[in-house]
Amino acid sequence: MTRDYLKKATLTAKSDATQVHETVKSILDDIEAGGDAKAMEYAAKFDKYDGNVMLTAEEIEAACALVPEKLKADIRFAHDNVRRFAEIQKSTVSDVEMEIVPGFTAGQKVIPVDAAGCYVPGGRYSHIASAIMTVTTAKVAGCGHITACSPPRPDTGVAPAIVYAAHICGADKILALGGVQGVAAMSFGLFGLPKANILVGPGNQFVAEAKRILFGRVGIDMIAGPTDSLVLADASADAHVVATDLVSQAEHGYNSPVWLVTDDRGLAEKVMELVPGLIDDLPQVNRDNAFAAWRDYAEVIVCADREDMAACSDEYAPEHLTVQAGDLPWWLDRLTCYGSLFLGEETTVSYGDKATGTNHVLPTSGAASYTGGLSVHKYMKIVTWQQATRDGSKAVAEATARISRLEGMEGHARAADVRLAKYFPGENFD
Ligand code: NAD
Repeated sequence: MTRDYLKKATLTAKSDATQVHETVKSILDDIEAGGDAKAMEYAAKFDKYDGNVMLTAEEIEAACALVPEKLKADIRFAHDNVRRFAEIQKSTVSDVEMEIVPGFTAGQKVIPVDAAGCYVPGGRYSHIASAIMTVTTAKVAGCGHITACSPPRPDTGVAPAIVYAAHICGADKILALGGVQGVAAMSFGLFGLPKANILVGPGNQFVAEAKRILFGRVGIDMIAGPTDSLVLADASADAHVVATDLVSQAEHGYNSPVWLVTDDRGLAEKVMELVPGLIDDLPQVNRDNAFAAWRDYAEVIVCADREDMAACSDEYAPEHLTVQAGDLPWWLDRLTCYGSLFLGEETTVSYGDKATGTNHVLPTSGAASYTGGLSVHKYMKIVTWQQATRDGSKAVAEATARISRLEGMEGHARAADVRLAKYFPGENFD
């Protein structure tokens, strides 16, 4: 199948991975050895912050008082949608049990992890919505202790709206620490926190790498960052809307890829013509991010037909996937790799990013080929149990002993034998 690249990326998420790994590893080692004081040193170094790290009840109250009432209402609207969506997701997993053979019962239990550490990014933008997405889902899942941490601004600390969002969504503690030092504090249990059982939340490449390195010692939701987005558009799409949507996601950061995949060359050319003007029209910081992301990471691909467009999209496994094309049910049915899917022009990634209830913490860098985004399920352990009567035990003991002996695991076989001998003395078993 021929694909025509009208624009090809010169950089990818992997480009600076080795350097980032070494930086993050050494910061983590330093903080593990040096504890609270070392974490504060890094806050001073990277965020020029030397204020209080663990927010007090008074500081939280003062921050909340600074948030305008209209914004508070918007945050509560988004929180309500995220909470209700998380509740319905939670209802899709439950404790179950069944009789495997007469007298032998097996079951599953769903148990929330105790301590959740929620990273709320705040370097370039104040990601209020990330506080809502991470803390609300942890709360609905039933976690015993929830910490939210976010980078402080040099003089003012964590953005008041982030503090408000984390607070009303159910954070037990709020930490003014960003980047690797924030992740380290939650996972090593610094500043009097319980050690997190799971770390969740999006972040830049340093945050993502810290989670990757710590995974195993602590659970993680997924690698979530830097953001990427793909738009599938056919001849029926509005080039201006497509271009606006691409730019809206490129503003995330200088390394946030956006990809347009289409079967209509004319549309592709029109979108490429429109994007620079839309970027130019953004405020300075957003413009710089979007400009670099479009220049270095963006791709525009013309495919032969919609089947190839879908195949191409599945290969990229984008975090955000938008379809602006006819026959939306066909796309919903056909596409298999994405973090979150936005069907039709009437919705957009921004809606999901901020307020619709579906989670915006989503797999990036192709991780959508093996996982979905953050949901209550990520905080919930699905564990199993079993219990048997003596007859039930007999029903599985012989098979267990034979399989074990064939594997050469004599000790396992004898654990079955000892029960047969105890419960059914005098009977002969092969
Ligand atoms: P951030 O909070 O992730 O990172 C800021 C921190 O980075 C700072 O506190 C600082 O400690 C650290 N840092 C900066 N430079 C460093 C260096 N040279 N060495 C070590 N540490 C350093 O905020 P951000 O930078 O604005 O990034 C937010 C990211 O989150 C973006 O990449 C965005 O795409 C991503 N995001 C992803 C999702 C998702 O679901 N995948 C959602 C929202 C945002």
